[in-house]
Amino acid sequence: MDEEGAAGRLHEVGHRMARVLASSGRAPDAARLIAVSKTFDAAAIAPVLAAGQRDFGENRVQEAQGKWPGLRERYPDLTLHLIGPLQSNKTREAVALFDCIHSVDRPKIAESLAAELARTGKAMRLFVQVNTGEEPQKAGIAPAGADAFIARCRDELGLALAGLMCIPPADEPPSPHFALLAKIAARNRLSGLSMGMSGDFEQALMLGATHVRVGSAIFGGR
Ligand SMILES: *Cc1c(COP(=O)(O)O)cnc(C)c1O
Repeated sequence: MDEEGAAGRLHEVGHRMARVLASSGRAPDAARLIAVSKTFDAAAIAPVLAAGQRDFGENRVQEAQGKWPGLRERYPDLTLHLIGPLQSNKTREAVALFDCIHSVDRPKIAESLAAELARTGKAMRLFVQVNTGEEPQKAGIAPAGADAFIARCRDELGLALAGLMCIPPADEPPSPHFALLAKIAARNRLSGLSMGMSGDFEQALMLGATHVRVGSAIFGGR
């Protein structure tokens, strides 16, 4: 993908977000755009940074370690989001590099994050991933177990949760999944909703998304 193109597409996504937020009666800053830069190198990311984007998402700790420390020296005001599954043996590296983790998806990860945050004193924004489609191959807590898991994270582990995240099944309309995530968040008094990708971020914004994770609509196909 040409680099001028990525900055232009970033602006287009921003306009589309602004339109939906306005027509939904939401504030212009009610949702953040996370530019998902997985598989793209620093040279492809540079024009998007130059265009003013500061929130980026990556799905692998190791891949992110290869490109973001250098970029962060030039752009210290970056916010980095881990949106892919976290292995418990990568918790230390993930806490060191990222500002937000959207994939708190099982007790073992919650425990290792709690220990690492206590050890380092770092404050992080954490999202619990809910497997709204109950897909066996997909990460996340089943909807029926979400309340108990959220309570355990807060009460037993002392984690300050920012919200919930979901990835709807690829072959279903996403809106019922976004609505379910919003409902689980509301009854647990969680304000953050990480939902919506290139193909469905407008629907997610209509249903209350506070963070949309958009990759290919900005960077091009992977
Ligand atoms: C890759 C990815 C995205 C972005 O997907 P696009 O369809 O390219 O916008 C969003 N969320 C997660 C968890 C991803 O892995």
